[in-house]
Amino acid sequence: MGKQVAVAFLLIFLIFFLPFLWGEADVLPAVPPAGDAAQPPVPDTDPAPTRYDASATITVLLDGQAQQMDLQTYLMGVVRAEMPAAFELEALKAQAVAARTYTLHKIANGGSANHPDADACNDIGCCQAFKSYEDAAAGWGVDAQAFEEKIRQAVEDTDGECILYEGEPVLAVFHSSSAGVTQDASAVWSESLPYLQSVETPESAETVPNYCSTVSFSAEELKNKLQAALPEANLSGSPSNWFTNMRQEPNGTVTAVSVGGVTVSGTKLRAILELRSACFTVSFDGGTVTFSVTGYGHGVGMSQYGANVLAADGMGYQEILTWYYTGTAIGRP
Ligand SMILES: [Zn+2]
Repeated sequence: MGKQVAVAFLLIFLIFFLPFLWGEADVLPAVPPAGDAAQPPVPDTDPAPTRYDASATITVLLDGQAQQMDLQTYLMGVVRAEMPAAFELEALKAQAVAARTYTLHKIANGGSANHPDADACNDIGCCQAFKSYEDAAAGWGVDAQAFEEKIRQAVEDTDGECILYEGEPVLAVFHSSSAGVTQDASAVWSESLPYLQSVETPESAETVPNYCSTVSFSAEELKNKLQAALPEANLSGSPSNWFTNMRQEPNGTVTAVSVGGVTVSGTKLRAILELRSACFTVSFDGGTVTFSVTGYGHGVGMSQYGANVLAADGMGYQEILTWYYTGTAIGRP
């Protein structure tokens, strides 16, 4: 009797509940219907934004070898080579934007006649310096990873940004340090540009290594160097009579000087004697001629040490750039 009741209950259970159990399986099909598959997939996250520098490819001549690389890789190499990585992050960002602007300005203006098949090279007399991570890291030592990350941030945080004048990337030249003011482009080169004017710059002997430097020559040595570059110069008699009619700007930058009767620019004399800048005085002591020089570089555009002082004082990279490049705005071209 008990066994029959148990079988009856089992049958009732199977009759009533089994269809529900199977039905449950029908509600959750293993393969979604075709209609659902045709719906556009919903992404997990927003797609990565297009990065300007990473998507722009340029050809760079490195020690004579043409290499293709994206703009970000190139700019990181330029910033490694052109500015101390220990500088303030905002100064490094200003350098990254200046380097990008210089590169895109050159490309937009037909590139360099020195390398018609490449957009840029690593000759500092032509384009901008470039340093690989390996070369830079050898000098950075234990700071290598931190410095590299800082440079990456300087380039990435300013992705695609340029210094613009009337909407176009400018000739973003820069230099190491100046004596109180930067130079108007026309004072150094023949061309005058509205955004390369003389502006105040805050660096000094306290903030720049080798800010004041001296170079001494014997009369004989100096005569040989000058005569080789200026064959028409009359360099007879005492060296104290060789330099006449020196014209200087208020900050001491030599604009012109007569060397043995031949008038040259301060920039030219600086090149002949390999002085650190054209801001110099000359003194004579017995048979020795000494040039006392202030600052380093041509003095036009952004002063890198000045940018670092401004950044340390709390200025952002965009303000730093518009400080040095008169009448410009920062944005994508
Ligand atoms: Zn070049």
